[in-house]
Amino acid sequence: MKIAVLPGDGIGPEIVVQAVRVLKALGLNLDLEEAPVGGAAYDVAGHPLPPATLELAKKADAILFGAVGDWKYDTLARELRPEQAILGLRKHLELFANFRPAICYPELTAASSLKPEIIGGLDILIVRELNGDIYFGQPRGIRTSELALFKGAREGFDTMHYSEPEVERIGRVAFEAARKRGKKVCSVDKANVLETSQLWREVMIRVAKDYPDVELSHMYVDNAAMQLVKAPKAFDVVVTGNLFGDILSDEAAMLTGSIGMLPSASLDKNNKGLYEPSHGSAPDIAGKGIANPLATILSAAMMLRYSLGMPAEAERIEKAVQKVLAQGLRTADIFTEGTQKVSTVQMGDAVVAALA
Ligand code: NAD
Repeated sequence: MKIAVLPGDGIGPEIVVQAVRVLKALGLNLDLEEAPVGGAAYDVAGHPLPPATLELAKKADAILFGAVGDWKYDTLARELRPEQAILGLRKHLELFANFRPAICYPELTAASSLKPEIIGGLDILIVRELNGDIYFGQPRGIRTSELALFKGAREGFDTMHYSEPEVERIGRVAFEAARKRGKKVCSVDKANVLETSQLWREVMIRVAKDYPDVELSHMYVDNAAMQLVKAPKAFDVVVTGNLFGDILSDEAAMLTGSIGMLPSASLDKNNKGLYEPSHGSAPDIAGKGIANPLATILSAAMMLRYSLGMPAEAERIEKAVQKVLAQGLRTADIFTEGTQKVSTVQMGDAVVAALA
């Protein structure tokens, strides 16, 4: 199995190296090959996603990604900005299914802004469609308004659309995921207002017939945003489009209060995937040795489960992470009184030791 390792910028290299150590400690026969991406790639090759990096990503069985971006690249033209690398990889590899688990470990309930009884033990999965919706719909642009009330004024416009096969493929991904978990799918849309959502809902109902063991429910996105803070544990798998998923997955991530803990996966139709922490490159703490590597280590566990067919090894990593949390070890972002503050490397050491 070939793994493309793309550390990127900011804290990316510091946290990816810890995930690589954990993978190596499992003693698996993995061929790990590293390449620059983001600002680091711009510095050496003049482009955030150089052809050699893209080639490596294409031929690999999975990609372990750190994070990209740094304020020092803010003045570059948009197509040369580090963040274009992640958009380019999603597009070139047709990564259409984004998995964002939001898990609240019992030891970390204090990190959440919600009451412990509401958040403790949370384990939900947001499945977001990544390649369609209003983000990519045409036509779009800025034009002169023809509306009687605002005639002649500038107006911005975008187009929301989803085709039946697009909805079906993300629906099947969500139902398959639910089968391996709590067997419930909540499809989030805005079918009371949007035609796109009406079609989305019809397709979800049709797809659900092939999964009689999984319960399907529907929720409008405004209600879903409320329910995620009121009773998040009522959800199992949430499936939704690109726009709604962008907002809800960040909301779900922040429920747990510890962005440094949350992994994510973006998969293609063959379960090849890009695995990365849900957070960014955190330039404010880069190089200080204090970044939390657990989101990246847990992303490596997701890679073993979803792309490499090694669920037992994935579970070994997840159990090791739980063990270090139970031991009271904390990086600065999740530190609370009475626990032991450790560095990025010490957290990596502890996970490697816990694997044994
Ligand atoms: P961020 O997620 O990088 O940081 C937000 C806050 O969380 C910061 O205070 C940071 O120190 C903290 N934080 C993040 N990860 C942490 C970790 N592992 N351990 C401890 N603390 C952590 O978001 P931002 O500050 O809005 O963005 C910084 C850069 O990252 C920008 O250039 C942005 O474009 C980029 N970004 C990249 C990705 C990606 O690579 N997929 C995603 C989001 C943002």
